[in-house]
Amino acid sequence: MGVDKKVVCQGLYKSFAGKMVVRNVHFQVAAGEILALVGPSGCGKTTTLRTIAGFETLDRGRIEIASQLVADEGWHLPPEKRRVGMVFQDYAIFPHLTVAQNVAFGLGRGAAAIQRTQDMLAFVGLAGLGETMPHELSGGQQQRVALARALAPEPVILLLDEPFSNLDYTLRKQVRGEVRSLLKETGATAIFVTHDQEEALFIGDKVAVMNEGCIEQIDTPEILFHQPKSRFVASFVGETSFLPGTVSSRGIETLLGILPQTILLREGSQVELALRPDDLALAAAAHGNGHILSRQFMGIAHLYRIALTDGVVVQSWQPHTLNLPVGTSVLVSFQYDHPLSCFVGERAVN
Ligand code: ATP
Repeated sequence: MGVDKKVVCQGLYKSFAGKMVVRNVHFQVAAGEILALVGPSGCGKTTTLRTIAGFETLDRGRIEIASQLVADEGWHLPPEKRRVGMVFQDYAIFPHLTVAQNVAFGLGRGAAAIQRTQDMLAFVGLAGLGETMPHELSGGQQQRVALARALAPEPVILLLDEPFSNLDYTLRKQVRGEVRSLLKETGATAIFVTHDQEEALFIGDKVAVMNEGCIEQIDTPEILFHQPKSRFVASFVGETSFLPGTVSSRGIETLLGILPQTILLREGSQVELALRPDDLALAAAAHGNGHILSRQFMGIAHLYRIALTDGVVVQSWQPHTLNLPVGTSVLVSFQYDHPLSCFVGERAVN
């Protein structure tokens, strides 16, 4: 019977010099699942990953990898005994070793190691490049060498820390697609750290959003996007702006009109609606409800920032053919085809 390659983290705490940087972190990653851990710089993503790898000891908490306890109160298994593969931002491949020697690094010697190296190079699409030196490869190819090296010793889990941040935007998009397919093909259980929400939504079967050392929400990318549980999660995912509203018998009243949405709050309650740029329509109008603050050309679309008459700033995506100069008076309205997330303070109320 194969090993159940799941990861269980329970109540992880980690501090540095009295400053708590990981606080009460709980999550499970099922066998073969990719968890994307995302959040702003300094929120504790890398530290969480390093406690799983065994490079940091926990203050409190418990970690199991493939049903084996690897860290508990005051006790921890050293990294080399955890059967964890790691891929870092800077590839960490050895410049003085060939591609094949890099991949074979953790494999020992012998015919089996040579065969495994060849198999891994073929698997990541680098067959025939084993004798090449790393500097002769592109950034994307080097990242594939790092992945092949991490996967070669058959780790029970793979930890990836911002692995694409050295690559330019176009290459990053291509390589992350390749890496996701490769991870799915091996059936690897993986935890993927990134500060880039788009990358997290793309790569994760589940996404955990971290803020100031805590995990605010773990869900599938779709649920996270459509049903954020906190204002922070809503603001972090999907270019969100917030519009004040008042609950009434007809729905939620706002400067942009009434949103026909039922909400279980008393009439007169003040809320905020999370708006994504595709939730708003926009048209030039002499007596509108806002004016254009900026326009960003994104190729297939323009992203407009609009200051409403009450000072709230919202965003709207419009076709690249709609060219409205900064300062234009506009009428902004809801493009309502799904319920919008609604918040009282930090808390979601729908
Ligand atoms: P980034 O995306 O910028 O890498 P992150 O979310 O991965 O950020 P961490 O690297 O985990 O964040 O850092 C969390 C906090 O812990 C930061 O304030 C950082 O300065 C601090 N920290 C991390 N490692 C150490 C250390 N070895 N000694 C002291 N403080 C540390």
